[in-house]
Amino acid sequence: MNRKKKLKEIVSLTRTYLQQEKDSGVKFIRKPGVSLQSARKKQIENKKLLLEQFSSSVLDCRKCGLSKTRIKVVFGQGNPEAKLMFIGEGPGYDEDRQGLPFVGKAGQLLTKIINAMNLKREEVYIANIVKCHPLKDPSRTDIRGNDRAPDPGEIQACMPYLLKQIEIIKPEIIVTLGSPSTKTLLGISGDPSYDKNSSISKIRGQLFNFKGTKLMPTFHPAFLLRDPNRKKYVWEDMKKVMNILD
Ligand code: SF4
Repeated sequence: MNRKKKLKEIVSLTRTYLQQEKDSGVKFIRKPGVSLQSARKKQIENKKLLLEQFSSSVLDCRKCGLSKTRIKVVFGQGNPEAKLMFIGEGPGYDEDRQGLPFVGKAGQLLTKIINAMNLKREEVYIANIVKCHPLKDPSRTDIRGNDRAPDPGEIQACMPYLLKQIEIIKPEIIVTLGSPSTKTLLGISGDPSYDKNSSISKIRGQLFNFKGTKLMPTFHPAFLLRDPNRKKYVWEDMKKVMNILD
């Protein structure tokens, strides 16, 4: 067997071995002689570093028109090792000023939901499908309530960032908050059970497959502030998420 062929075979065998390890639940491979604890620590540090480097590369992004009016890019926040990732539609007034996701009233409700799941905000990861504040009236950056959902062009420009975040974090489950993030992620998920004409009310609480990661849609906390009667549905959904994480 020539050298090239041999090398190809080694790569193929290694790939198969790694895939088998992954399928059986192994999350990382450690070098011989390295303790499990230090290998784990190293893995966490690497992910943290990767996310920090990636975040710095996005902070000056000008890929879409939202860059003209934003105050701060809201990259995302949380544990690089999070098993649970929440994804909303975009930053609002408070988020734009603080550079952090879900820190306004809707964010405070999301924190309550997370705490009710026996988790802390620092244990999960929170991001949006676009990282800059979409404004209804771009000439009024100074007023509250001037928010809108991101348009398809803005989503398309920004999505590679979110996909990269998901790839680095590798959550066990993603919870999409509200219709725009649900439709966006399920639209590219390739899950045949997703019908793009379904409303969020119909598909919330159902489990989908987003490129190998579980995904569950639920209502956006801002919607719950407008209609508190729907909180019980979100709690039903979150109980399912807790079961999956357990
Ligand atoms: S929304 Fe995303 S793509 Fe658009 S400017 Fe901000 S970071 Fe860049």
